[in-house]
Amino acid sequence: MPPTPIGPTVETLIRIDARAANKEDAIRQAGQLLVAAGCVVPGYEESMIRREQVANTFLGSGVAIPHGTGDDKGLVRRDGIVVLQFADGIEWNPGQVAHLVVGIAAGSDSHIAILRRLTRLIQNEARLRDLIGTRDPETIAAALRDDAPAAPAADAAEDYPERIEWTVDYPAGLHARPASVWSESARSVGSPLRVRHGAEAADPRSLVALLQLGLKAGDTIVLSAAGGNARAALERFHGVVTRLTAQEKADAARAAEKAAAAASKGPLKGWTPVGTPRLMTGVAASPGLAIGRIHILAATEAEVADRPVDLVAGGALLNGALVRTRAQMEGLIDDTTRRLGAGDAAIFVAQAGLLDDTDLITLTCQIMVEGHGVAWSWHQAVEQMATRLAGLGNPVLAARAADLRDVGRRVLAQIDPELGTGTLGDLPEEPCILVAGDLSPSDTATLDIGRVAGIATALGGPTSHSAILARTLGLPSVVAGGPGLLALPPGGTAIVDGDTGRIWLDPSEADLESARAWLAERARLRAAEEEKRANPAETKDGHRVAIGANVNRPDQVAFCLSQGAEGVGLMRTEFLFLERGETPSEDEQYTVYREMMEALGDRPLIVRTLDIGGDKQVPHLDLPHEENPFLGVRGARLLLRRPDLLDPQLRALYRAAKAGGELLIMFPMITSLPELIALRQRCEAIRAELEAPVVPVGIMVEVPAAAVQSHILAEHADFFSVGTNDLTQYTLAIDRQNPELASEADSLHPAVLRLIAQTVEGARRHGRWVGVCGGLAGDPFGAALLTGIGVDELSMTPRDVPAVKARIRNTDLASLRALAARALEAGTPEAVRALDGAADGKDV
Ligand code: PEP
Ligand code: MG
Repeated sequence: MPPTPIGPTVETLIRIDARAANKEDAIRQAGQLLVAAGCVVPGYEESMIRREQVANTFLGSGVAIPHGTGDDKGLVRRDGIVVLQFADGIEWNPGQVAHLVVGIAAGSDSHIAILRRLTRLIQNEARLRDLIGTRDPETIAAALRDDAPAAPAADAAEDYPERIEWTVDYPAGLHARPASVWSESARSVGSPLRVRHGAEAADPRSLVALLQLGLKAGDTIVLSAAGGNARAALERFHGVVTRLTAQEKADAARAAEKAAAAASKGPLKGWTPVGTPRLMTGVAASPGLAIGRIHILAATEAEVADRPVDLVAGGALLNGALVRTRAQMEGLIDDTTRRLGAGDAAIFVAQAGLLDDTDLITLTCQIMVEGHGVAWSWHQAVEQMATRLAGLGNPVLAARAADLRDVGRRVLAQIDPELGTGTLGDLPEEPCILVAGDLSPSDTATLDIGRVAGIATALGGPTSHSAILARTLGLPSVVAGGPGLLALPPGGTAIVDGDTGRIWLDPSEADLESARAWLAERARLRAAEEEKRANPAETKDGHRVAIGANVNRPDQVAFCLSQGAEGVGLMRTEFLFLERGETPSEDEQYTVYREMMEALGDRPLIVRTLDIGGDKQVPHLDLPHEENPFLGVRGARLLLRRPDLLDPQLRALYRAAKAGGELLIMFPMITSLPELIALRQRCEAIRAELEAPVVPVGIMVEVPAAAVQSHILAEHADFFSVGTNDLTQYTLAIDRQNPELASEADSLHPAVLRLIAQTVEGARRHGRWVGVCGGLAGDPFGAALLTGIGVDELSMTPRDVPAVKARIRNTDLASLRALAARALEAGTPEAVRALDGAADGKDV
């Protein structure tokens, strides 16, 4: 069908029911039509294809807008637009199908009006469907001519015509979780919506805008909608809002119960007040007790104004801001490496990578092409992507959303310096309790720790990068304390308990004195433990437990030995793969293993083969996406499917063993006997080929199946090491990264302890030893309990070694066995923890 011209100002051609072999063919056809119409000179098609290679021009909802690169503007004779309608669709990118391909030739910004209409059309699904199905070019032409706004123009504070009043009855107000459900619903209803509280109004599609309304229980708000289906859309949205009430009330009741339990006698470890100061609870994120005056960090969300500029100037401004931010990030990486180490600096390496994210940059450009300002477009693009990530219900992705916003703020400050003013420079001289909605990783890394005693945030999770940095800095920290934190009066005194997730408010003088005494006692104990850290972990009656450290890099070995570790009980080799950004070669691996062994001298090194999958994803391995990665192809399952990963690692290990030293090989995530047998066979084949010595080959016990079948597996494994982090996750069916369930993912759960006891019993049948290298081994009480259960070796973070050794030295084996027997009979983790220091476990 021949193209139909429309439009007086911009040359527009429409081809109904177009056919193309693929995306490139469709772009070429669009380009050729523009050439034929005299809008561009030949060669513009190539420019459109080049542009597509560096940026995705898929606008969304079946509409793509291919156009030439900025450098090729000279090929444009006059502005023109061509619309190719593909009723069956053309695959633009995996998962993106284009039905309307709008090719653009633009020497000036006159096509922006058409793009504005297109973006409005995208929000109107029914109209778009008509355009995709129509046989009449005039229908498309009319839609592109139609300048009527999608919704009646309304001033920011004015409601749309259809309205419903609602009083917030969520006990904790509109916090992040329900707000993300609101914005998801608002995006899906297809009509413009507004939420107003007093003089402030928000577009509920934006999570941030909703949170900024700061809605509390009891606030009355007006929900309003515009457009053709306004009433139905509004009722759907209202239904979503009200259906959340029951869930919010149940959550609040549970939180109150927890707070009451903690406030009464508190089975949790940590300091307990003498009086009854007001208590708020969150999730423990960085251990320790901090006392200080509350300093509320004002929200740094600056109002980003929309100041459209010429597209060419805008592109240059954005590019300059990105270049300067990259340079700034390099400085931050350098500084963090020197102050906190390469591990923590890696957080900012990952953030810097976001500056090259093509999707993010394309989205920004697309918004700019629609006629918006640079800062506004960048901010919108960051928010859209971050909201999408945060709303997926995956804590890891939610942490990436925080990173994206963090780096996004840096770029904004480069685009417009006025948008970069934070308030961290206003910290009081005296060390304070810093209270914030959430803290970005760069805020945390650059905190003046002389002025901050502890941190309490309304949002965030214990696995966020900010929490990790707080732990490295030694700053007691509680996250997810709820929005009520932000309403606390500044200057009041608070005590933050980063071990238990509690925040005590306005403590009495007696409470303060007791907290200070507790801190002093802890410091004294720590000093005493450190003094004796080189002594063995031997009970009073001569029972010795081997103590290892969890260390991944050769340069960490000296520190772990200085803390009293007797070897490395767990070297996680996935870090070799994660840090390099590419698969390390056999020789590179060999070098690292040798350096580890040389640093250790004749002390043992237990190397765990690659444990990829679950929380440890390696982008450059390009593994298929899994719905449930923790239940997917991870650990041993992956190794058995990928000899290209397993064999070089085993060769590197056996070559390292051949050069001398004490090496042990350990396989992760074993769930069955055939897996173990197959892996052992691979070990033996490679060992024989290299004529390397026989080394002990053991397995991690991280899955209930392995614990239950330990008596069978022990015949084929030389040793076991229990991974309590994963064993807890799989036993209790709690995602180890879910901040919501963090306090319930307790390795002291009697079900987990019973599986460990069963593992010990299975191992004994074949004379094998059992270690524990999960988090429980580094908790002094957990370590004592594990020793009583019969565990022979404990491996932990180097810093935990002195306290664990001291705890074991302080007791005798009979008491530990009695303690273990009682713990195995307990009903709950709280009951187990209550045995800490009780009756005959007094000295344990
Ligand atoms: C564990 O699961 O306890 C463990 C030590 O392994 P990782 O934490 O590396 O999964
Ligand atoms: Mg594990």
